[in-house]
Amino acid sequence: MATVVDLTGERQRVVCVCNHTIFDGVVIKSRVVRLLPRGGAEALCRCKAWVAVPVTYAPPGTA
Ligand SMILES: [Zn+2]
Repeated sequence: MATVVDLTGERQRVVCVCNHTIFDGVVIKSRVVRLLPRGGAEALCRCKAWVAVPVTYAPPGTA
């Protein structure tokens, strides 16, 4: 099942398995974020787990 995030709707919080809020709907609370080739991104939690965050990246010129 694909995970679909609608950024136009309710702000979505993302909480890691360690109960750390990694994304509060506005700010990614991680110093390390990586973009995924297939879209979306992951943030490195303080517990060293990668957590998917609802971020999209559009390269310049495609918007
Ligand atoms: Zn964590």
